[in-house]
This record gives sequence, C-alpha cells and structure tokens, in this order.
Amino acid sequence: MRAGPREFRGIPASPGVAVGRAYLYVRGYVEVEKRELSEEEVEGEILRFESAITLAKGYLKKLYERVKSEIGEEEAEIYEAHLMILEDETSFLKPVEVMIREQRVNAEYAVETVLERVAKLFEEMESQYMRERAADVRDVKRLVLTALKGKINEISAPPEESIVVAHELLPSDMATLDKSKVLGFATDKGGPTSHVAIVARTLGIPAVVGLRELSVLVRAGDPIVVDGDQGLVIVRPDRETMKSYRVKMSEQIRERMLLMKYAPLPAETKDGFRIGVFANVGGLEDLNYALSMGAEGIGLLRTEFMYVSSPRFPTEEELYTNLRGFVGKMGNRPVIVRTLDIGADKPLPYFTMPPEPNPMLGWRGIRVTLDRPEILLTQVKAALRAASLGNLWVMFPMISSVEEVRKAKEVVHDAASQLKKEGKEFREDVKIGIMIETPSAVLMARDLAKEVDFFSIGTNDLTQYVMAADRTNELVSGLYSHFQPAVIRAVKGVVEAAREARIHVGMCGEMAGDELAIPLLVGMGLDEISMAPTSIPRAKRLVRSITKESAEKLVAEALEAATLGEVKRILEGFTRSISYSGP
Ligand code: PEP
Ligand code: MG
Repeated sequence: MRAGPREFRGIPASPGVAVGRAYLYVRGYVEVEKRELSEEEVEGEILRFESAITLAKGYLKKLYERVKSEIGEEEAEIYEAHLMILEDETSFLKPVEVMIREQRVNAEYAVETVLERVAKLFEEMESQYMRERAADVRDVKRLVLTALKGKINEISAPPEESIVVAHELLPSDMATLDKSKVLGFATDKGGPTSHVAIVARTLGIPAVVGLRELSVLVRAGDPIVVDGDQGLVIVRPDRETMKSYRVKMSEQIRERMLLMKYAPLPAETKDGFRIGVFANVGGLEDLNYALSMGAEGIGLLRTEFMYVSSPRFPTEEELYTNLRGFVGKMGNRPVIVRTLDIGADKPLPYFTMPPEPNPMLGWRGIRVTLDRPEILLTQVKAALRAASLGNLWVMFPMISSVEEVRKAKEVVHDAASQLKKEGKEFREDVKIGIMIETPSAVLMARDLAKEVDFFSIGTNDLTQYVMAADRTNELVSGLYSHFQPAVIRAVKGVVEAAREARIHVGMCGEMAGDELAIPLLVGMGLDEISMAPTSIPRAKRLVRSITKESAEKLVAEALEAATLGEVKRILEGFTRSISYSGP
C-alpha cells in the first residue's frame, strides 16, 4: 500500500511548477556506529569491505572519465588522487583489515577510525598543501562508508524528469550534478538566497527550500510536485492535482517559448531609454544559457564556483583558463568579474574560517582577501591576463570604506607589475568597480564614486544590512525585502551619486530581476540590470512596454511611501496597468 498525498510548505526559491519523480540525494555521509563481531562474522565483514572498495573504485574511475571528457583533465585529477588514497595498502586497506580481524569490529567503524587518523596526520603537517589533503581523505571516507551500504547514489547523474530531493545541496553538490535532467529541486534546508536557490533561478528550474523534514519522509521514485511560486511541495499527489499541475507546466512551457521572442531584442522603453540587461552567472554552462536568453553582458560573475569546485585554492593558470572561457565567449560584451566573496553564507571547504559571533558582520568578501592578499593577487593576475582577450571588468565585493578600495586597487597595481616582470600578456586599463551592499557604502557613495569606474548594487546583502535582518534567517524574513522604503531610498541615493560622478551604475542583486522592481530601476535611470538568465526575456518585454516618463513618476511616488505594504501596492498598481507590447 502506498501512502496518500502529503503537502509540505517551504520557501519559494525559484518560480514555476514541475511534476516528476523524487530523486533522493543522500549526501555520502553516514552516522558510524561501533558493532562488535563474533568470530564467525569476521571473514564476511572483510569481504563486505572489499566489495565496497571495488564499488568505490568503479565509481571514482567512471567519475574521472566523465569529468575528464566533459570538463577537462586538470579538473579530473582530483578523482585520481582519491583513487590513490583508496588503493593505499599501507595506510588504509591493510590497517582496516587488521582492525576488523583483531579487534572484531564492523567495517564502518574500522574505516572511520583508520581514515580519520590519516586525515588528522595530514592536518598536522607543515605545508598548507598537505594540510588541505585532509579534506580529500574525508571525501574518500564518505565514499567508502556509502559504498558499505551496498549502493552509491550517483548525485551527478539523476534519471530523466527528476525532482531532486535533498536535506541540503552544497555548492560542491551542485557543481557535479547533471542539471539537464532535473525538473525541480526540493530541500529541507536553505533560504531564498542559498546556493541551490541561486542556481535553480539561473537555470529556470522551479525550487522550494526550507522544507524541514521532507527528505526523510519522501521515498525514492515517489511522484512529486514542486510549486516554486507558492513554496509548496506535494508528494504522491492525487490524480486531479497531478493533472492540474501538468496543465500548468505546459502553460509555463508555452509562455517561455513566447517570451523567447524578446530574448534578442534591446530593452528600450517606448520613449527611447535603453537599459542594459545582463546576466548573473557562476559557471560556463550558465553562460551558454545566458547567451541564449539574450544577455548583453555578464553583470556578475560569481567566481566562488571556480573555488568550490576545486579541492584547493586554484592556481593563477587555472583561474586564467577559466576566465578566458567567459571572456572569449562574450566577445566585446562586458564580463564583470567579482573577486572572491567568501565568508558568512559562502564557505569554502578547504579554507577554515575562525568561529565568529556574527559571521554576517564578520570576516567576509574583500575583508578576507585584503587580509590574505596572495589570494586576491593570484585572482587579479588571472583576470588581467584574461582581460587582454575581451572586455573584462573587475569588481570588489562587500566594500565598506574608501581605504578598502584603495588597498584593493593597489593589489591590481601589484598584479600588473608582476605580470609585466613575468612577461605575460595582460591588460592594465580594465574598469575597476565595487559592489554597493553595505549601508556605509551607500552613505559614502559620493566619495567611493571618485575612486572607481562603476558601481553595482548588491541588494541581497544591502537589504540585510539596511534592515539589520539576516538574509538566511527565516524568523526575520518579513523584514527582509528589497521593497522596504529604506532599501529603495538607499538605491536612489547610490544612483544619484553615480550620476553626479558620471560613472556606470548597475544592479546585480535579486531586485534587478524582479518584475515589480524593474520599472522603478528604469525610472531611476540605472545603466544596467543583471539577473538570473531565465528572467531576461521577461525583463526585456517589460521595459519595452513602458515609458521612462511613467517610470520616473513611479519613482517619485514610491519614494514618498513609508511602509513596505504601500511600496508594494504602488508597484503592483503600476504593473497591473501595463499592456505588454508584442515583440
Ligand atoms: C548581493 O549581495 O546582492 C549579491 C549580488 O551578492 P551575493 O548574493 O552573491 O552576496
Ligand atoms: Mg553580496
């Protein structure tokens, strides 16, 4: 007997609806318990351990081949390293066997003990490179522990029409997942700006997050509906529900096809004001998608992805190769490369952050990379080299003072001198800009504008700092809205400061892709808005259906509003009155 339908309410993370089958992603982690074996059980346990090793080896070899052919040899090397750990007789295979035999314990416990000891040894080593190998040992440990259960769930290759259900999806999971087969995402953890939410929106895949215990209550293969508009997930829906969602899904596909007609058109208002519509991207696969959606530039290249998909800090050469891919594909169109923005909600597995009482107010973004200038220098060198192939701009995140900008510019200067000495080809006159995402940057915008070539407003962080409401905390999600009057006034002030200094001003936070907000941004006169690629055609249709004049009036009205409700009412009223122009 199958259980009946069940509804789960979560946080809408990426719009649209999807109907498919649950693909349960259990991270390769298992709680390890110690079990004493009887003498007769020992040989069987060793055999079980050996079969798990065979299974794990097969998996790694397959993964190595796939990554090598699809991404590149260098990226695949990590799996070769994992294979070496797996096949190491002296420090792994033998000690586990001896432990099972002599101490008569279960294989899981022996694997955990032996590999944890190896990982700790690495952690105590002098060289940073060797210390970072501890993470690889733990990865292998997780793989073997999963293989001991008899099956390795291939997160990287879900079947057709999958709805990926997981407790949590980390950047490293998303990097290896073949997203072309995924119709929807549903996770227990995460907020609207969590990594899975950002990737889902980028690719136009419906997603609901913050579903608490969903992943424990769903069974693999269960029929499942993800309603990313309502933040609703229905497991084993009844026939009627299933039917109505299938209808919605086909309407969605029809609408997308219609909107695609706007992809190649400019975003120009009826009275001739043109705003650039750029894309936010993380990986090269997003870039192809962004181009097909009509991106006129990359307004935010989140370089964190290049770092999380590497087992250690990538080298200048690796970063250069990666950036070259973006710049080469974009030709003359701008590619705004944001320097590494880690800390708080964006951890890096191989870079240990100290525990902080308030991580969101702590060591993150430019603060980290100015304290560790070698990280920034390597990245900027790679960027300046890639800039010689196209139109690359460099952008610094989390700026809160003029001094930080000056120091960051010094690093750019040092990078250029080093490259000159090394005789490498590079471009020095790249545009340098900053993200405006702290209240201090808003208040200091006039002074900051004198230091840089462009601003890009990051409303995801700006909203959390202006409202003093953690972007990942559900308890304060009522306050966390980019339509708060305080946020709108902050944005207006920044645009004015940029206008006075005659520098480019764009926006790359979620607000830029929000249909309700776009008329406001047109009215304020931003040069460019950068959004998830999937939102581009709709944004272009919207801009082409309004006038700058009416948008300016809207700004004046919205700036008068004193509450969130009032702002929303004004914007909704405006949106309702739009009659959409044909392509
Ligand atoms: C922002 O803060 O608005 C932004 C675009 O950066 P992120 O979401 O990566 O912090
Ligand atoms: Mg930010």
